[in-house]
Amino acid sequence: MPELPEMEIVARRLDAALPGETIESALAPGINALKTFDPPLHALEGRRFTGVRRRGKLLMLELDDLVVLLHLMSAGRLQLHPKRAGLRDKTSRLLLRLPDDRELRVREFGTKQAAWVKVLRAGELDADEAMTGLGPEAWPDPPPLRELLDAPRPLHTLLRDQQVIAGIGRTWVDEILNVARLSPFKRGDDLSDEEAEVLRDAMVSELGRVIDVYEEKVDLPLPEKFPKPTRVHAHQGEPCPQCGTVLEAVFYEDYVMTYCPRDQTEGRVLKDRRLSRLLK
Ligand SMILES: [Zn+2]
Repeated sequence: MPELPEMEIVARRLDAALPGETIESALAPGINALKTFDPPLHALEGRRFTGVRRRGKLLMLELDDLVVLLHLMSAGRLQLHPKRAGLRDKTSRLLLRLPDDRELRVREFGTKQAAWVKVLRAGELDADEAMTGLGPEAWPDPPPLRELLDAPRPLHTLLRDQQVIAGIGRTWVDEILNVARLSPFKRGDDLSDEEAEVLRDAMVSELGRVIDVYEEKVDLPLPEKFPKPTRVHAHQGEPCPQCGTVLEAVFYEDYVMTYCPRDQTEGRVLKDRRLSRLLK
């Protein structure tokens, strides 16, 4: 589940490896994740990488006057492999092959097809709808959160809304709210100035902590599975890293929200899945 820290380290590693390299061939085998047709995918062939950047959870592969914009969603993976894959690998969505046999590969696991790729002219990037809707970056220097989160919605939802603030998903939101000692169900418009400041500090420090871990542990070829330096998310039943109380969780259909009842919900244990009942 790549979020800001994962994409940040991917961008750093690829930006150190790819500029100057030329794409020999570009293929989109299997289920089509390509959302654009002009310029065509083969326009990438013969082009040179000039840089790799991240915005929110999006990655931008820059190739002179073209940009490959990609979003891995929840089940996508991006890897720079030392060797080419066979075309029969059903998880492959995009293959950018280099002349030395290395291959930048977007794969997607699971049953849903959600990861996507766009080939854009560099001048069109900023106007693309995936970019224009994004809120400010959650790291390293987000704006003050009091006004940004001023909405009658729970923090757990607001912080994951990419149009509100870009980069956070289901994993790191649990860590951030635990460090800030705030309930996932507290409404954004109920934050005091002080709480908003504490939350901003927690966001910057947690995302920074994770990026530091990756900086030390993640190298090329990018791993199939990232190390997950989580202390709260999906650690229900284990002690809270702040106070030692047993962490509790609310289970949703396809994810889990983990929190400390002592630090975050005034001792209340919330096991019901339906948000509406918890918000009353
Ligand atoms: Zn605690």
